[in-house]
Amino acid sequence: MFKKILIANRGEIAIRIIRACREMGIETVAVYSTADKDALHTEMADEAICIGAAKPSSSYLNMQNILSATVLSGAEAIHPGFGFLSENSKFAEMCKECNITFIGPDADSIDKMGNKSKAREIMMSSGIPVVPGSQGAVSDVKEAMNIAEKIGYPVMVKASAGGGGRGIRIIWNKSEFIKAFETAKSEAKGAFGDDTMYVEKFIESPRHIEFQILADNFGNTIYLGERDCSIQRRNQKVLEEAPSPVMTEELRKEMGEAAVKAAKSVNYKNAGTIEFLYDKYGKYYFMEMNTRIQVEHPITEMVTDIDLIKQQIKIAAGQMLEIKQQDIKIRGHAIECRINAENPDEGFRPSPGKIKRLYVPGGPGIRLDSAAYNGYTIPPNYDSMIAKLIVHGDDREEAIAKMRRALWEFVVDGVDTNIDFQFQIINNEDFIEGKYDTGFISKKLKIK
Ligand code: ADP
Ligand code: ADP
Ligand code: MG
Repeated sequence: MFKKILIANRGEIAIRIIRACREMGIETVAVYSTADKDALHTEMADEAICIGAAKPSSSYLNMQNILSATVLSGAEAIHPGFGFLSENSKFAEMCKECNITFIGPDADSIDKMGNKSKAREIMMSSGIPVVPGSQGAVSDVKEAMNIAEKIGYPVMVKASAGGGGRGIRIIWNKSEFIKAFETAKSEAKGAFGDDTMYVEKFIESPRHIEFQILADNFGNTIYLGERDCSIQRRNQKVLEEAPSPVMTEELRKEMGEAAVKAAKSVNYKNAGTIEFLYDKYGKYYFMEMNTRIQVEHPITEMVTDIDLIKQQIKIAAGQMLEIKQQDIKIRGHAIECRINAENPDEGFRPSPGKIKRLYVPGGPGIRLDSAAYNGYTIPPNYDSMIAKLIVHGDDREEAIAKMRRALWEFVVDGVDTNIDFQFQIINNEDFIEGKYDTGFISKKLKIK
């Protein structure tokens, strides 16, 4: 096992990884930008090394500085968390060259799955259902338009390098095609430095259902059930739950096995997620694979009783999976609300600043993953998620009651938050009945 791990991230996920390491007796090294001098991860790790200025490209995306910090501190492995360098194959490769273990899949798997149009092609040849659309990437707007004509409108144009809901556009008819395609393309260029695009049929009123998998270096790959992440705003997740209200034993087995097959087709190792769209006719389609730990991983941990971060570390250290597929039992129900410093009344504008008073919910079945503390100043340089509120109940009804109670207890003074907005979701009749799809926030709550 590793003696020391460097965490190439910040915020709540850095804290989450420090916690796992501490329980495993592994020392931790935090890296921080000048904006994070007083951040909790900087304080909580055994050592902390400043890696540059506030701007992500100078610090949390600065591969040279992170690798130097690793060598300097004597850490044997790097945990990349999510976002930043977590899906950067070049970084995974550089770690390898420096004899540092990257806690994640190898560069080749990241490459294959990270490029979403390439991943589609691989899935098609492995016999996994994908959303109807282009074979791989499209070479130009004309080819894209021809495909749209063939599969029929509405369609979605998506960036191959996309992530975080960006570089995606719905196109309803031919007349708006060129403009929408070019807009998505230039957004992709700006956000990802890559404007390769692909086309998919727009699935109407789908649910986003994803499967967590774990794969070791000995060919063992298992699925740990699903998460329903259909509560989204602008294609970004807001609230997630496990299990999905629409899941059955048979469907879980079928989709879970498809997820395992998808992972095996790229010789995947470590933790990963296969995202599917599930349509109103009960059909499912591969959408993408996230080759990293995900924001919403705690709800799977709550219903399976498996610590995914510890599993990631053990796998990276070369241990064989101790858990077998038949050991996976879904126990009770878990919900996660992403608590962001933002103002829902002003178009969800980020609300950085000083937290003057913080009271966090507690009691049975409540878990809070956060890097916030009383008096902490949220810097404006990074994303606005300040906490993940996770509840676990015996069944969905109890989980909802717990979430309602926990949101009610939660006090954050000094910055705006989406706590009331989450409260609105959890109290909605349709949500309570489990009747929702990815259009819930825009259609039912009439929020853009
Ligand atoms: P999850 O499914 O884990 O919620 P998200 O797509 O919301 O994944 O992304 C998790 C984090 O990673 C977010 O902070 C998001 O902004 C960031 N992220 C995801 N993809 C990219 C990308 N291609 N480039 C930069 N940041 C990304
Ligand atoms: P990202 O890499 O940004 O996470 P995804 O491909 O996972 O992008 O899509 C993000 C979200 O956009 C999905 O969860 C879903 O709500 C919506 N979406 C993506 N593709 C389609 C599609 N073909 N039809 C309908 N909705 C889609
Ligand atoms: Mg996605």
